Amino acid sequence: MSESEPDDAGATASADGTADADRTDAPSETESADDTRTDGTDGESRYAFWADEVADAVEARDPEEPIVIKGGISPSGVPHLGNVNEIMRGYFVAEVLRERGWEVRQVFTTDDRDPLRKLPRKLADLDGNIVDLGDVNAGALGKNLGHAYTDIPDPFGCCDSYGEHFSTLIAESAELLDAPIDVVSTTELYESGRMDDVVEHVLRNREQARDVLSEYQDKVDEDYVPFNPFCSNCGKVTETVTAVDVDDRTVEYRCTDIEAGNRTIEGCGHEGTATFREGKLPWRFEWPAQWQVLGVDFEPFGKDHAEGSWPSGVDIAENVLGIEPPEPMVYEWFTLDGEPFSSSEGNIVLVHDVLEMLEPEVLRYFFAKDPNKARDFSIERLDQLVDEFDRVERLYFGEESGTDKETRRAERAYPFALSLADVPPEALAASDLFEEVADGEDGHAVAFDHNDARDRERRREFVDGEFADRVRLPYTFAAVLGMFDDAEARAETARKEGHVADDDPAWAVEDAFGRVDLASEWADRTDNEYNYTVARAEMPDVSVDEATAAALDDLADFVAEGHDGEAIQGEIYETARRHDLEVGDFFAVGYQLFFGVEEGPQLGHFLGDLDREFVVERLRRER
Ligand SMILES: [Zn+2]
Ligand SMILES: [Zn+2]
Repeated sequence: MSESEPDDAGATASADGTADADRTDAPSETESADDTRTDGTDGESRYAFWADEVADAVEARDPEEPIVIKGGISPSGVPHLGNVNEIMRGYFVAEVLRERGWEVRQVFTTDDRDPLRKLPRKLADLDGNIVDLGDVNAGALGKNLGHAYTDIPDPFGCCDSYGEHFSTLIAESAELLDAPIDVVSTTELYESGRMDDVVEHVLRNREQARDVLSEYQDKVDEDYVPFNPFCSNCGKVTETVTAVDVDDRTVEYRCTDIEAGNRTIEGCGHEGTATFREGKLPWRFEWPAQWQVLGVDFEPFGKDHAEGSWPSGVDIAENVLGIEPPEPMVYEWFTLDGEPFSSSEGNIVLVHDVLEMLEPEVLRYFFAKDPNKARDFSIERLDQLVDEFDRVERLYFGEESGTDKETRRAERAYPFALSLADVPPEALAASDLFEEVADGEDGHAVAFDHNDARDRERRREFVDGEFADRVRLPYTFAAVLGMFDDAEARAETARKEGHVADDDPAWAVEDAFGRVDLASEWADRTDNEYNYTVARAEMPDVSVDEATAAALDDLADFVAEGHDGEAIQGEIYETARRHDLEVGDFFAVGYQLFFGVEEGPQLGHFLGDLDREFVVERLRRER
């Protein structure tokens, strides 16, 4: 949920939607027992998956179809992974309700009627690349402080406005995760007249509105009018309404200065008349008004709102609008590599980026974890998240045993993390479940409607059937394969190491190797120990003296016996000492043999990851 008024109590996290998390969980394990909530009656947990609990609460409201799930965002800064959290939380609840037979509509409002109050330091283009403000037409923004986002030219020049550029990006992010949302422009809600009745109601009852809001905001005095028109002369938002004509659906205003954080945006002094479509409700009223106009049944939001605009929103909904507020869900923020998301500090990542490093089902899985826990999304340790996902997947397919709770949670959450858009068309075709399977270059080889019960049933049958034969290369192993300069050696090594079997379907093997590129991208971006190239196709030209040659042969014998990386690492030191060699020199020779350069990752551990036959032969300088 967005927050737009800087002087609004509780408006602390807004644009980035995230804050510091003081604890993180160990991502290498699946979630522990306390991740499963209890119903408090008999000590036995009823809910293996949090979205089931929320869906129960939504159903208890006796909703009408379609059930409407909402989220929202203010279009400042960059729509990054932290913002997508809200979309995906709603998505899992939507999926559970659909599974129960409900038709669900998920809407996401971009609060693009809000005025731009300060210049963002970073923006993102439509390909998801982060750019500095200086690299775009910043003047388009600078001249437009105080104007609605949808009235500001797109600094990239590709969309009708800055607001629309932002909406396009957030829609793309959801599309990349195959989460069907309707992006709703708040400006469009006003301009189409859909807000007219609720604005009229609020202004007709403005005394009551004032009384209710004054319980939450000190600035609300007897002159307060809950409507902010845009000046017809200069385009800026104004907070000075001098008269209201409810029957005519207009207000009179004077364009005065507005305070935006620690700066003042000057008004032009113009006096004019605005219709209800030429302004906006203040955020504290706009949010409940959206609930009414869109018929919202459920809305997740960050903890800033839990103490800020949520309680006043409930009060306004019940005592000004006379509607029932939606079922709420407060979620914890997460951090990125241990730090809060920050557009201005550059600590941001977009869905676009993440999906170059892992599969969409892994990212969806991250958002399927308990929303009550603050957690870290670690790019550095992305391998741990992927390992955790792989384990949950194996638990689901009964290929590994876990605790009863882990298993039940995997059974509930895993199928919703998987989309048919992620699956190779060959696998879909092999299942005989789908009448028509397209080439699916764009990732949609079969038609799938989330609200169609038959489509959902087929998806479930496919997952439990054909997809059970999928192959996953462990992520760090895929990173090792990504270091080979010889593509053929990848397949050979994967077979030798037992990650690919002869009877695995061709689509599954091909799909599994897709992870090599993802893990290589991860190695490149984090410049970690996998960011080297193994000279595998051809042995680098290395001349060694007699003592070194003897030491290498010894080491080869040791590796041939079959030891893990830890043992090999220790033996490198031992071998050097036995042969009176400088340890550093001996390592350098090892790096030259495998990488053609004098440095690399921890050599022993690395050699332990490679196929033994190759390592032995290379140490003996045979290939
Ligand atoms: Zn654009
Ligand atoms: Zn003006």
